[in-house]
Amino acid sequence: MAAMNIVYHYQGKLYVNLTNRCTNRCKFCIRYTPSGVDGIDLWLEREPRADEVKKALEENDFTKYPEIVICGYGEPLMRFETAMEVCRYIKDNSTAKIRINTNGHASRVAGFDVTPKMEGLVDTVSISLNAKNAAEYNEICVCQFGEDGFYEMLDFAKKAAKYVPEVVLSVVDVLPEEDIEQCRRIAEDCGVKFRVREYSE
Ligand code: SF4
Repeated sequence: MAAMNIVYHYQGKLYVNLTNRCTNRCKFCIRYTPSGVDGIDLWLEREPRADEVKKALEENDFTKYPEIVICGYGEPLMRFETAMEVCRYIKDNSTAKIRINTNGHASRVAGFDVTPKMEGLVDTVSISLNAKNAAEYNEICVCQFGEDGFYEMLDFAKKAAKYVPEVVLSVVDVLPEEDIEQCRRIAEDCGVKFRVREYSE
């Protein structure tokens, strides 16, 4: 049964759950596992309004957290404007750093380059690179934009780096070493950081 866990705690951090929608259908997506995150049901009965997110942040003492993650059980930047409104609220009322975990398709969804709007509001953008080329990306991520989704994501990363202090492209450590090295070079070419994440089931 869907709940309204708009804000949740996980491993000492505070997360904001804005949407269950996504432009991808990644084969590894936790939305397709029965347990949710740490047993928390993150299926939303409907998408929360910005004022509901702010209220949920208040109820969860958001000012005591050094970092707040805009994440979701879906792709948070499907709701780019709402996400930015929430970031503005957090910035205006706390010293928390803000990280957004995203698939990097926000500009394609919006129909224009949204990256300048993140300036001053977002401290870190973490983007899942997932694969070393477009065909493999689409094989794993089953993107609604097909292989274009890979190039959209790289373009978003490059452009975001002009406005956000830290942009990271990441892969999971299950990839072969040679693939990881190619991904590392892709991140370098984009002018952003690279991170290898530990796989967790
Ligand atoms: S991009 Fe993220 S939310 Fe979307 S399907 Fe992939 S893992 Fe799930």
